[in-house]
Amino acid sequence: MCRYPLGMTSGQIQDEDISASSQWSESTAARFGRLDFDTGDGDGAWCPDIMSEPGGFKEYLQVDLRSLHFITLVGTQGRHADGMGNEFAQRYRIKYSRDGSSWVGWHDRMGNQVIEGNKNTYDVVLKDLEPPIVARFVRFMPVIDPSLIVCMRVELYGCEWLDGLVSYSIPDGHQMIYRGLDVFFNDSVYDGATAQRLTKGLGQLTDGTWGLDDFLHSHVPGAWPGYDYVGWSNKTFPKGYVEVVFDFDHIHNFTSMKVHCSNMFSRGVRLFRQATCFFRSESEWEPDPMTFRPSAEPLSQSARFVTVPLGDRTASSIKCRFHFGDQWLLFSEVAFQSGSAVYNTSLGPHKHGQPKKTPLGDDPTHKVDDSNTRILIGCLVAIIAILLTIIVIILWRQVWQKMLEKASRRWLDDELTARLAVQTQAFSFLRFSQSSEDGSGSGSISTYERIYPASADYQEPSRLIRKLPEFAECAEHLARASLPESGTSSRAGVGSDGAPHYAEADIISLQESSDSGSITAVNMNLFAGLDSTLREFPREKLTFKEKLGEGQFGEVHLCEAEDMQNFLGEDTLMEGSSKSPLLVAVKMLREDANKNARNDFLKEIRIMSRLRDPNIVRLLAVCVDTDPLCMITEYMENGDLNQFLCSLRLKTLTGGEADQQEGSNEVSSVKLLGMAMQIASGMKYLSSLNFVHRDLATRNCLVGKNDTIKIADFGMSRNLYRGDYFRIQGRAVLPIRWMSWESILLGKFTMASDVWAFGVTLWEILTLCKEQPYSQLSDEQVIENTGEFFRNQGKQVYLPQPQCCPDRIYGDLMLSCWRRNAKERPSFQEIHAQLTESR
Ligand code: ADP
Repeated sequence: MCRYPLGMTSGQIQDEDISASSQWSESTAARFGRLDFDTGDGDGAWCPDIMSEPGGFKEYLQVDLRSLHFITLVGTQGRHADGMGNEFAQRYRIKYSRDGSSWVGWHDRMGNQVIEGNKNTYDVVLKDLEPPIVARFVRFMPVIDPSLIVCMRVELYGCEWLDGLVSYSIPDGHQMIYRGLDVFFNDSVYDGATAQRLTKGLGQLTDGTWGLDDFLHSHVPGAWPGYDYVGWSNKTFPKGYVEVVFDFDHIHNFTSMKVHCSNMFSRGVRLFRQATCFFRSESEWEPDPMTFRPSAEPLSQSARFVTVPLGDRTASSIKCRFHFGDQWLLFSEVAFQSGSAVYNTSLGPHKHGQPKKTPLGDDPTHKVDDSNTRILIGCLVAIIAILLTIIVIILWRQVWQKMLEKASRRWLDDELTARLAVQTQAFSFLRFSQSSEDGSGSGSISTYERIYPASADYQEPSRLIRKLPEFAECAEHLARASLPESGTSSRAGVGSDGAPHYAEADIISLQESSDSGSITAVNMNLFAGLDSTLREFPREKLTFKEKLGEGQFGEVHLCEAEDMQNFLGEDTLMEGSSKSPLLVAVKMLREDANKNARNDFLKEIRIMSRLRDPNIVRLLAVCVDTDPLCMITEYMENGDLNQFLCSLRLKTLTGGEADQQEGSNEVSSVKLLGMAMQIASGMKYLSSLNFVHRDLATRNCLVGKNDTIKIADFGMSRNLYRGDYFRIQGRAVLPIRWMSWESILLGKFTMASDVWAFGVTLWEILTLCKEQPYSQLSDEQVIENTGEFFRNQGKQVYLPQPQCCPDRIYGDLMLSCWRRNAKERPSFQEIHAQLTESR
């Protein structure tokens, strides 16, 4: 899971932290070596001056990450420069350093230093670093052919190395002869000095790889017996223990240490009998060590984590003496817990494909984990306290709201007609929200959440879009149009621009401009970007009928809209008589919505106002002159597709019954494919506008009369399906079960990732939404599966063929949506054609 982009692409890594040995010219300086950046500022990449060093082995592009990071993956790209560039690095090496002075050349587990790089100027080539590295400085060193100019754009992926461990020092591992077989327990990836003792480096004990139960085997292809472990025989240790010294970047407050050990006692290998740890904060080791003995003798021979309590001692170095429990002591991983954070074993990739087990669950010495339990209880108490505070605030707000409501009703009763009073029930609480809105800015605890993170670890697609010259202009234009003063004058310019825009560009300008919080300004901005045919509907002409549902923004009501057909004009003929009031769905922004929610609500309005397609839910009008903000959309009688399908059964075709009518709650596979075809048609339209939906799923499609399906929910999720979204490290809530591997791992959202989501949506439809995709996998396992898609070693799990899914649809269509290479996935045009044909 530790595979986040570290900031070359997003710009989080500053220009001054990117340097190089040389540059061909000012316009190919190091700062242009950012992967996926081709902004037109420079010449599109970093290119070294090959004349300065004819040998061509010392040129490098250096990235300073400012702190230690666990780096698991690197990405490179050549110089494309809008088709002008034709330079790339076919091969390169990596050097890294933790302190900026001593540098280590990276090599893979087999000792190869050279990494195969790019084959063309535009494709990003990602390479797993096996083993991963812990470093602050990383250098990319292209292997240069003197006759060619080489240019590079790069990105690093990983996460921050919170462990703080900068080196460990151990006696080098020994060799065992087991039944005539040579078993090597040396630390083969150690990156420090390797004399009698290994010093000043990190290696296998911190590479995130846990050894298998049987130490003769390893998951690393081609590895020798004993590869995963570093081990020692007691014969060379007359004192009966092995001494390991751990050095940290600064003083930590240590809670415990976890040591992953082999326990194959049938081969003379056992957990350590005792660990005695000394602490040092300054120059001297403190005299009072901590001693720990694993309590019970474990019967199982499986490898396990043993937790050694460190009693909250402060230190910048720890020296532990591990006493032999038998002839051999074998370790594969060591991790430290200090303060409140748990480090490398939880962050490091777990390459053995076993489900991640907590060391505690494995550990026969669980009694010693009392300190963990105490921390856990402390956290739970804190969470409960926070929840109670939130509940009290909510209750307080509700009481206050009711008082306001009462006051307002009394006042309104004098003036308003009976009909208005009915509407008041639906809207009044928001009419008077102006004053509460003011208060909510500071103290609100809205339940609203953003789905897409603003964090640099996850790239906002809007960033990508802004980089594209054709959209950057549009975004800038809109940003200008969004300034309150220029709102009116720019209206015509934007309105007359009939060209399709990528909606995200609008989002940004709207969000930036509405920071002022002024309703008038927001509304002016809103209209500046709106389709000119969308107008303010008089809200007194809406009569509340019933509540249809509740979304992220607030309630959705079924209302009668008086005179709506006349209001819309002849261009927009809606089903239903023009005389009778038209039934519409009214989505309202809830009273306690914060600024972000408000902006996102306006964003959805702006996006929807431009979309016109039979398979996209149509926005008819808005009420944004006063609060509550409302959007009026066409009414879809049968609610959302997920609930709709869930209530149906599959019609089985048996003999003569085949021609019979479907029962009221039965549906045939042909009809299901027809529904999928409609979604494909809507998506085809969206993709023709270069619009990326990012959250296609049955829950976000609505069903009208005669099984008409329309796509809704542009950029938002809803609370009803909270279980479908997954929160990554408290930052982002993402619909991971619908997301392509590149969206999850690289934050890339494209039309091809929408195609992936379509594949999952098609699967949902053909299983009648009876279960969640990958229901047998936990969220963490879904993420691990994504890693398998990335690694592409045939271990990835696909959604199975639904019972009623024809072989051709599964093999040719559904599976093709989940192809690893996004370019090989079909387009929505092709998908639509294929589904049309199959009917
Ligand atoms: P949000 O986008 O804020 O999550 P939704 O638009 O999903 O809110 O609306 C919540 C629920 O309201 C949906 O699940 C659906 O049942 C109902 N709903 C929304 N729009 C319509 C509509 N146009 N016609 C019928 N029902 C609707």
